[in-house]
Amino acid sequence: MCFCGHAQPFEQCCQLFISGQQYPDTAEQLMRSRYSAYRMKEANYIVQTYAQEKRNEHSEEEILLFANQVEFINLEIVDTGKDHRFQYVEFKASYLEGQQLSMLHERSRFIKEDGHWMYLDGELYPCEEKKVSRNDPCPCLSGKKFKKCHG
Ligand SMILES: [Zn+2]
Ligand SMILES: [Zn+2]
Repeated sequence: MCFCGHAQPFEQCCQLFISGQQYPDTAEQLMRSRYSAYRMKEANYIVQTYAQEKRNEHSEEEILLFANQVEFINLEIVDTGKDHRFQYVEFKASYLEGQQLSMLHERSRFIKEDGHWMYLDGELYPCEEKKVSRNDPCPCLSGKKFKKCHG
């Protein structure tokens, strides 16, 4: 299973985009591959898939800092949509910071540049943090106890 939640292995899914062998056909694919890039700490890909006007606002250092500080454990695509210029993807990405479980719940906006989907910006929904106890089921949904999995 790929990090993004698709059934195919990473090599046949998001890696194709991260390595530049293929371009995502849809904004959702791009979103998924950016999530996988966070998991793989492929900061360069994350920078390169920002829309042109946003690219300079993000550095690989800052992205790596975040990617190293948290552990993403689950991605859920809530909704996708489009209007004449943009595609939207609403997602929930759960991550751990030690025993603290947080979630990035965002409605992202994607735009096509030179025929390829790019991440433009997003609107964040407020999320509560939650502490995971050692004996709780792991929030990555592995079915194991937290202490035996991500704990
Ligand atoms: Zn994938
Ligand atoms: Zn786990």
